[in-house]
Amino acid sequence: MREKLVEGFRKGIVVPQGLIAHGRGETFDYLLGERTTRYAYDAEKAAVCLLLLSNESIISINGNTAALCARDLVILSNHTKSGIEVNLFHKSTARTNAIAKILRKEGATEVSGLNTKLKSVIKGISSNRRYVDKNGIMKSDTIFVALEDGDRTESLVKMGKQVISVDLNPLSRTAMASDVTIVDNIVRAIPNMIKISEQLVKRDKSYLLQQIKNFDNKENMHKSLLLIRRGI
Ligand code: ATP
Repeated sequence: MREKLVEGFRKGIVVPQGLIAHGRGETFDYLLGERTTRYAYDAEKAAVCLLLLSNESIISINGNTAALCARDLVILSNHTKSGIEVNLFHKSTARTNAIAKILRKEGATEVSGLNTKLKSVIKGISSNRRYVDKNGIMKSDTIFVALEDGDRTESLVKMGKQVISVDLNPLSRTAMASDVTIVDNIVRAIPNMIKISEQLVKRDKSYLLQQIKNFDNKENMHKSLLLIRRGI
């Protein structure tokens, strides 16, 4: 993982802040035993149900997630009929295009977030981090984010979007604000979600709805936190 991120950094896909964020993630991953816990798996299942039930879902991709698992993210988007948007915390046209190129190489056909004419604004954020694609995140009802900034997650939730996040830190604002919080490493979470989606795509809507109804995000995060405490 570190090598992939360093390589991504050299190619101009990952920013230095992304390397620091990865270090924060590793800390929590060590305490969780660097494995998918049963609670993370339950959240991954609920997340897939939500993606499959949504009218319009989208996967938001940044430098770290592209460097770590671009191909798997494209596969997940195909399995769940979700869109893909390149949406960077540290905005740069060159980096956005470089990430889109990687995603296309891995099989993505449509990538949002590239056309500046389609810029739309998330209310409540003053920096240039407020921009999303009018035809991507802005019009979607379910947004899948990973390694995301708390301000933006909170704003998306306020806009009435359902947010699924992957974040190894259950205490981050992103983790706390999300509707479904996956406390797992993205490199394990996405392959798990691909397998889960292959099973769930055959199930009917009422089964998927029931899974979501049975899932309690706060309780689930609390259990992850207890495992981290045990890890300490
Ligand atoms: P917030 O703004 O949500 O309170 P933050 O300031 O830590 O949190 P970011 O730096 O944008 O926000 O988020 C990075 C988050 O991603 C961190 O919580 C980190 O633990 C997590 N993270 C880093 N690498 C991974 C990874 N490979 N898989 C899952 N989560 C990761």
